[in-house]
Amino acid sequence: MKKLKIALVLLGWGLTLPAFADLKVATALSDLASVAQFVGGKHVTAISLCKGYEDPHFVPAKPSLMKAIQDADVFVSVGLELDGGWLPLVIPGSRNPKIQPGAEGFVDASEGIDVLDKPVGTVSRAEGDIHPLGNPHYYGDPKNLEIVADHLTQIFSDLDPSNAADYAANDKAFDAKMDSAIKGWEAQLAPYKGDSLVSYHENFKYFTNRFGLKVFGTVESKPGIPPSPRYLSDTAEAMKTAGVKVVIYQPYYDADEAKQLALKAGAAAYEIPNEVGGVPEAKDVFSKFDFIVSTLVQAYGGK
Ligand SMILES: [Zn+2]
Repeated sequence: MKKLKIALVLLGWGLTLPAFADLKVATALSDLASVAQFVGGKHVTAISLCKGYEDPHFVPAKPSLMKAIQDADVFVSVGLELDGGWLPLVIPGSRNPKIQPGAEGFVDASEGIDVLDKPVGTVSRAEGDIHPLGNPHYYGDPKNLEIVADHLTQIFSDLDPSNAADYAANDKAFDAKMDSAIKGWEAQLAPYKGDSLVSYHENFKYFTNRFGLKVFGTVESKPGIPPSPRYLSDTAEAMKTAGVKVVIYQPYYDADEAKQLALKAGAAAYEIPNEVGGVPEAKDVFSKFDFIVSTLVQAYGGK
């Protein structure tokens, strides 16, 4: 890549070549990299440290991750402690002053988001709760990604003012494309309004709230706490009584537990990505929601 750029610069001598403003953007989560790429367009290269098939709560803080962000101009964190177990190791480890918390290049993408499940009173990680500041999976609501896009547009424009007009235009196009996509997903899910699902982890609530579905319960007994056999049988019984037929899980969760619960409850379990890259079809935030919605339509019986 570097060689190519040098070649292009040499080629460009004497010509008016567009400046290589290229903001190098790194994000904690693949959905944030996807939004950054839409907003940044040709001026930005965006990478994600956590891949869509990895649990975003527990990413190993490997030296390769620190190296990957050592010359980033911007780092976008999910915030709300979703990445709180590993970013505090990876970011200082990068020794990159531009992206340390407090620096201009460090972004908390949860700013401006209406957070669900905010805890009342004091919660500690010692009790096993991995959502100490409320539910951090806000990227499950596509409308929230417009808030992230607006936020990133502001950051990119501050850091790279010469391309501010492009960032603003890309942002507007992103919001319009998302609004139109949301209308389509709403139409596909409309026949199932009020239907329930059981999610492996409490990470689908933003999505279900947006589209009029309900999270009946989780396979985990608490965020980050695997289920006991007793908890699974109780949940299965409750599902049978309520007629809940759909269990969903992500690639990084224990599929057997999800399937076992589904079997006991007379339901079926479906692998559904919650993050871009969770399955090969989920190439960006749009195709991710396409996949989620079409899988749920099948799960609910394609009425
Ligand atoms: Zn979580």
